[in-house]
Amino acid sequence: MTKLIKEANRIITLWRSHGPGTPRIDINVALNEIVIPSSGGDTVSIVEADFESFEGLMYRPSPQKRSWLIGVNRKITYTPRRNFTLAHEVGHFVGHRTLRERFECGPEALNDFDVEPLEAEANDFAAHLLMPPDLVRSYDDRRFCVESVTELADEFGVSKLAAAYRWINLSRRHIGFCQSRDGYVINGRASKSAFSKGLFFRGQDELPPQSRTALAIEDLSNPELVSEGVWCRFYPAYESAYATGEGDYIYTFVDLLG
Ligand SMILES: [Zn+2]
Repeated sequence: MTKLIKEANRIITLWRSHGPGTPRIDINVALNEIVIPSSGGDTVSIVEADFESFEGLMYRPSPQKRSWLIGVNRKITYTPRRNFTLAHEVGHFVGHRTLRERFECGPEALNDFDVEPLEAEANDFAAHLLMPPDLVRSYDDRRFCVESVTELADEFGVSKLAAAYRWINLSRRHIGFCQSRDGYVINGRASKSAFSKGLFFRGQDELPPQSRTALAIEDLSNPELVSEGVWCRFYPAYESAYATGEGDYIYTFVDLLG
């Protein structure tokens, strides 16, 4: 377990035992009440500003001082994106302030879970804090579909995309998700156990022609059973989907029966 994940767990534990105890952690409050008091005298404050090329930054304005600044781009109007950016920068403060004096994080850094180690660590920290594993896993009792992912996203103040990926990464069930446009998969992921059953998504593949998404069935939001051979060679699956307003993407949720 990395130092950052340990710190995320400490914050979650204190939030639950001595704080409001809500599933959703208010990052501003956690920063002021939990993170700063245990930062050995270093402090950090949040500023909103207009940035051209990045969404968030974390830096030390003066090398002589022990105060740091977190900047969040004012142009981010989508609250889940803002929450994630803020949590990511808090991750840099918690884990990386002794390594570098300045972090500038654009959309690529904020989606990087495996290339640049410090960015990946800050993203893991943010995901862990915003969507604690035990609470996300408790959703495994539910069918993986538009409705349950929407509830998960709303409960934790994250985007549906982030909620779907997080659930899949933590799930013990056979579930998968893909984003498509004009009949082609853009990206997607299957849970470990679904992958072992033969469910996978590959960018630029055509959607399965018999899937409800490809057939553009009108009401896709309620999960309906599709037979084996559609999404997965050997197993039928519950499929539901919805079209996003922006970019004409379709998000498809697959829950294998098997
Ligand atoms: Zn970063």
